[in-house]
Amino acid sequence: MAKKKPKYGDAAFLEYAKKIVNHANYAGMPDVIGERGEIQWEAPSNRKTGKFKDTHHRRREWWRLKAISIGIDPSTDSTWISKTAKAIHPFGKKPCKTCGKELDIAYAYPNEHLFARIRKLPYIDETFELSEVEHICDLIGRLDERFGARIYNDLPQLFVTTSIKIPNLAKDFDSWDEFLRKIYIPQEPRMLSPGAMSNPPDRLDGFHSFNRCCRSTADTGRSKENLKSYVTDRRVFEYWVDGDWVAADRLMGQVRSNSIFEQENCFNSAQGGIHPRPCQADHIGPISLGFTHRPQFQLLCKICNSGKNNRMYASDVRLLIDVEATGECVISWFAKEIWDRRKAAVRDAETGLRLSKLLRDNRHTYMLLLKKLLDRGFYTFLTSLLHLEAADFDPAFVGLRAVNHLTHFDSIEKKPRTTKYANEQKARRIRIAFASLADYHRKENRNAFVISNKRSESNFSKGFSELEKLRHATNDLDQKIAEIIGEKRVSESALRALASALPEVISVNSAAFSSVRDHFTRGMREVAIELDSMWNSDRYVRSAPGEIIE
Ligand SMILES: [Zn+2]
Ligand SMILES: [Zn+2]
Repeated sequence: MAKKKPKYGDAAFLEYAKKIVNHANYAGMPDVIGERGEIQWEAPSNRKTGKFKDTHHRRREWWRLKAISIGIDPSTDSTWISKTAKAIHPFGKKPCKTCGKELDIAYAYPNEHLFARIRKLPYIDETFELSEVEHICDLIGRLDERFGARIYNDLPQLFVTTSIKIPNLAKDFDSWDEFLRKIYIPQEPRMLSPGAMSNPPDRLDGFHSFNRCCRSTADTGRSKENLKSYVTDRRVFEYWVDGDWVAADRLMGQVRSNSIFEQENCFNSAQGGIHPRPCQADHIGPISLGFTHRPQFQLLCKICNSGKNNRMYASDVRLLIDVEATGECVISWFAKEIWDRRKAAVRDAETGLRLSKLLRDNRHTYMLLLKKLLDRGFYTFLTSLLHLEAADFDPAFVGLRAVNHLTHFDSIEKKPRTTKYANEQKARRIRIAFASLADYHRKENRNAFVISNKRSESNFSKGFSELEKLRHATNDLDQKIAEIIGEKRVSESALRALASALPEVISVNSAAFSSVRDHFTRGMREVAIELDSMWNSDRYVRSAPGEIIE
């Protein structure tokens, strides 16, 4: 059933609308306030009667005069009105009326034309998620993290168009980031699309109310496959689990790009059936269920990997238990209790699925805790959960090979990164981690099931009050991070300065933060006890074949 939408949609949109109507750039806009004191955001051209039937025409005239005042000539330039809307927009980005997600109005987002080219790269497979609402520079950063500098040889052929030639650029992230932002995006290339389409004078700010995230699925070029990948954007979990994300990501990239894995068979191939090569990298313990980033992958063919759907095989659980016995950490702190209570109970596919579902609800409960931290502005503490220190090293694997359908290596060589590169990577991680956390809750999962009782809540509150007492120590950084995730435009250099200041503050407060984490761990233990008691309940036992664990 469709949810009834408030008139102004998401709260972030109403706040934005108020800022726009009060902004000097829109001074003199006709009929801004309606008869009941509300903002008249829309001015449809088909109003036949009433006091505001001419609003559309009057606003069009306002836009015409505005265009002239900024040097755009409406009589010779057929795109004058959208050009003007873009030129006078004071923020460069706007929230979506439907879901609240904030996107740039510029042509900064990849579209099907670009995706088609990316999918042709030999090292790209379905395990590299593509999203239409990821800023192109963030996508490049992610390609760099996974596949390394080799991507820069391929970028020119991804971005070239008949009208835009790609200059000779240095093969590093900085040079491409600058080129894309300053030269490529402003030319509105066909390989990219805007976060919001312009349509003055129908909307007061000159842009469609819904952004790229919520535009009609009937739009051209939007495949079903892509729609699905947007709806369940699983990358959010990557940021909030433990482990060395840099090493794990780099090894994942090797599975598709290193020829030593090309001939390895799918883990399930002994059971018969068709298992096309080359295989894909399967996280043995799914990140989305709270397992850590670990540089070890199972080789699964495309068919088996897409059929696995975030659940665990009984063999996965056995393998993870064996890895734990060697002293390695396979599960994140917030999921350890429920994992420890039930891992030995997994004997077959059904119990494997059951534990996967318990872990999913545990994770959702944890994500809600993170959301409360976000809402209350405990940004520095949240950042301490991101394992930014992993970015200080560039890992290389010695003796890399496939053994029994698993990746294997003898050792990892960790070369220190240059501070500049590491800070950029950290800054990007902070920004994306916070934005994706907000997105996750905005899309509020349909199956969302939050586990809570008095004891878990009381432990969580203790953690919150300790953080409250720490405010004096974290306030400066909290403020800076707030600027990054808020609507104020923050320069990349400010972001880098923050990334370089963070380790110090986190390490000075490490004892205090770890005491806060102890309270949260105790809270999550109470959550695990509740979940444990539901092991035989219908919610977890009953299952449909091929059920997807989100
Ligand atoms: Zn949206
Ligand atoms: Zn297979």
